[in-house]
Amino acid sequence: MTAEATVAQRLDGKIVGAEIRASLPPRIQAFTASAGRPPGLGIVLAGHDGGSETYVRNKMKACAELGVYAVLERLSDEAGVDEVLEIVERFNQTETIDGILVQSPLPSGMGSGAEQRVFVAIHPDKDVDGFTPINAGRLVQNRPGIAPGTPSGIIEMLDRVGIPIEGQRAVVIGRSDIVGKPMALLLLHRHATVTVCHSRTIDLPAVASTADILVAAIGRPGFVTRDFVKPGATVIDVGTTWLRDRDAVIALFGPESPRLEVLERRGHTVVGDVHPEVAEIAGALTPVPGGVGPLTITMLLSNTIRAAELRHAQGK
Ligand code: NAP
Repeated sequence: MTAEATVAQRLDGKIVGAEIRASLPPRIQAFTASAGRPPGLGIVLAGHDGGSETYVRNKMKACAELGVYAVLERLSDEAGVDEVLEIVERFNQTETIDGILVQSPLPSGMGSGAEQRVFVAIHPDKDVDGFTPINAGRLVQNRPGIAPGTPSGIIEMLDRVGIPIEGQRAVVIGRSDIVGKPMALLLLHRHATVTVCHSRTIDLPAVASTADILVAAIGRPGFVTRDFVKPGATVIDVGTTWLRDRDAVIALFGPESPRLEVLERRGHTVVGDVHPEVAEIAGALTPVPGGVGPLTITMLLSNTIRAAELRHAQGK
């Protein structure tokens, strides 16, 4: 069994996130002085998913720390998609709300098309997650718009730590609308040569191991093992799975891992898609937790301020 970190440079999302966050207060102050109110974020949280509760709490906290007005509307597990749509429409009409965030995933009882119905209802100017078809289309065509926070944060991190993108071979594992596809597009617009992989990709390790930059956005703990990684590659681990099973934690991290103490204390430990052994072969690697996650919240705040600035500039 391998140790959790050895040679790969650790790409610390808390440090990079703090750097980006430090650039936000002057923008918030300038906006507040000019608009006579702070930037506003409306959040909808439906159901009681443990992960979502934590993410929303962290987002509210980050807003409070920076002086962004945040309002949270909660719905029960039994709520219907129409109730979410009603709140979204109210936020669309509320002048002091610049950004709208509907926490994903919505309760499964809302049906499989619920998220798409909700995302399309958010006004594109307030779409701080960048999930609406309008902003997705702008991203495809590389026009100004709001891009999803997680992939934007990854680009920001690569830039800040000086990892080149142009001309590099990038492989993205995962093709979701919120991570995989926008990630691939942002890398493409920065002139990487991009391959997108998914569950039907044949011989995934062979494709993945051509990458100079490998992004794993799958949701399967420890799936990306050493044979997926070209020595020296930059590996970005987007996966966040709450592992609750002690044997599974031992299988991944070994019987001496401090993760077991975390598991004992919290009842879960957050695990990425990348196997710990990859630290022995990658050139740089984002940890989970503490890698991509903190960037996502920072980029949400940055997007909210941007939406506020754009709306104010349009006289809204
Ligand atoms: P998703 O919508 O479930 O998409 C997962 C993708 O992985 C799909 O494209 C799927 O392929 C692919 N996949 C599944 N099993 C595979 C396999 N065996 N081989 C190859 N590809 C496989 O998930 P998501 O919303 O993109 O999120 C992915 C992960 O990132 C999750 O763990 C999520 O919690 C995490 N996440 C983290 C952050 C953060 O801030 N850190 C933000 C967003 C998401 P198919 O399309 O063929 O089914």
